[in-house]
Amino acid sequence: MCGIIGVIGHNKVSSLLIEGLKRLEYRGYDSAGIATLLNGKIDRRRSLGKIENLKRLLKKSPIKGNVGIGHTRWATHGIPSKTNAHPHSSGDVAVVHNGIIENYDELRKKLEKKKFIFESDTDTEVIAHLISYYLKKNLSPLKATITALKKVEGAFALGIIFSGINNYLICAKRGSPLAIGKGKNCNYIGSDSIALAPLTQKLCYLNEGDIAEITSKDFRVYNQNGKRVKRSITTTSLAKNKIKMGGYNHFMEKEIFEQPAVIGDALKYFIDTKKKKLLIPSFAKKIKKIKEIYIAACGTSYHASLIGKYWLEKYANIKTEVDIASEFRYRNIINIKNSLGIFLSQSGETADTLAVLRYFNQQKGKTLGIINSAESSIARESNNVMETHAGPEIGVASTKAFTTQLVALGALTLFMANFNKTMGRNEINKLSNALVEAPGQISKILKMDNIFHKIATNIKNAKNVLYIGRGTNYPVALEGALKLKEISYIHAEGYPAGEIKHGPIALVEKGVPVIVIAPSDQLIDKTISNVEELLSRGAKIIFISDKKGIKKINNKKITTICLPESHEIISPILYSIPVQLIAYHTAVLKGTDVD
Ligand code: GLU
Repeated sequence: MCGIIGVIGHNKVSSLLIEGLKRLEYRGYDSAGIATLLNGKIDRRRSLGKIENLKRLLKKSPIKGNVGIGHTRWATHGIPSKTNAHPHSSGDVAVVHNGIIENYDELRKKLEKKKFIFESDTDTEVIAHLISYYLKKNLSPLKATITALKKVEGAFALGIIFSGINNYLICAKRGSPLAIGKGKNCNYIGSDSIALAPLTQKLCYLNEGDIAEITSKDFRVYNQNGKRVKRSITTTSLAKNKIKMGGYNHFMEKEIFEQPAVIGDALKYFIDTKKKKLLIPSFAKKIKKIKEIYIAACGTSYHASLIGKYWLEKYANIKTEVDIASEFRYRNIINIKNSLGIFLSQSGETADTLAVLRYFNQQKGKTLGIINSAESSIARESNNVMETHAGPEIGVASTKAFTTQLVALGALTLFMANFNKTMGRNEINKLSNALVEAPGQISKILKMDNIFHKIATNIKNAKNVLYIGRGTNYPVALEGALKLKEISYIHAEGYPAGEIKHGPIALVEKGVPVIVIAPSDQLIDKTISNVEELLSRGAKIIFISDKKGIKKINNKKITTICLPESHEIISPILYSIPVQLIAYHTAVLKGTDVD
């Protein structure tokens, strides 16, 4: 993932590009660069590290122009370095790219034979040289781009400028997100609405394979064969000023602490919170006869999906399979026609998840996108959509997007239970009530922040940390481990508590912190047995439970954290908060780059 921004027709191009890149930094931040066009000449500045470094470089060595493209990179090919940073250039062309060119090696060898000299190790550079090659054959910039992209396999969103042509920019999209922003005498391109919303509310999302020519006044879209196509302009719902830190030290901290409010808002779409009754959306009727569900997701969304599986099977009695999208897309999926495919993604642009969705659509399966961005590709290409209403999530580590995904999956479970009559009305109302109580319970947990800070001081020097849990709290253990490694760079693994004795216990030596997620449910006694095994190896146990659960544990060596008691359906939502805060504080204490 990385961020792309482009501006055409503005006299402050370079500062607009930097501001746009700052908003996109959550998508990648190992290096960054911009290129502008002034009097027909391309000028470029690139630097290693975060946008701040690029900003400093531009202060020392400013560049001007009315047209420009910018990129914040998250390297896939070639180490993060100044020479590998985008934009890449060749002859009259400068390119920014988000995605992966799968046949880059073959193209590179062919281009090298034609005497093109490569300065970087990136896959992206082949695009710059290829377009340059066709320009030299006297094709127009549009024709040269179309011809070059026909040779390219893989995924891309591109912004391209050409020396000698001042009021002109080309962009293209296949497999990576890209939108055009329509302003007054000024147009833009951007990876998402977060980048573009402060510049313009009018966005045109490109379809797969689209290529667009943009001037300051207008834009024209073509399909991959060069045929002119019409694409509509939508007004983004994202408010201009929603993306501020608001007194917190990091976006991650802000997003953790906004969860009671955000979850409260999200619940209003699914449950009448006053009458505590379900608000069944119209799409739900279309999927009520479904007997089997497949969920495809990646990363944190995969963990939310695993919890959804427990709920859908337990409460709605529907067989549910969950798979990591990058595996799912390459295996044989059976009985798609009679199943519902659920596609869970915060951004709605996750390439592997999108690929599985497209496969389901081709096979005429029913599809449901559960996404946070209503304007995303997954939202647009799914038959049915459930928005999670988390608002923009800027911190790299997903927090509120995860818990609101759980709210959506919880509500979906209750809709399905209602249709399948697997639970009576009273029982369903009881579970809706429990969900409605989640924001209040989370507020109580957030007030215990100093306790999680103390845990962080105890684990910050650890080399390895284990997380264990059972049932719906096993995915919370996975999520806790992912959060910790993602932002504090400490090696961490999540395990089902019962699995620890089948191998991983060999890693437990004296002092290894093990975080146990153990609300007092029907599985707690089994988890406590696993804790005993770990103690005998010298593990440092941090036992997160409630009053009832902690009463069961009688060992002074164990650090206990007492959360409010809750209905089991909301326990994975509540127990996510401690693991988020422990990861956050550990990262801050270690001085790593949290956001
Ligand atoms: N594959 C390109 C590179 O490694 C783009 C990566 C990205 O999307 O940030 O430079």
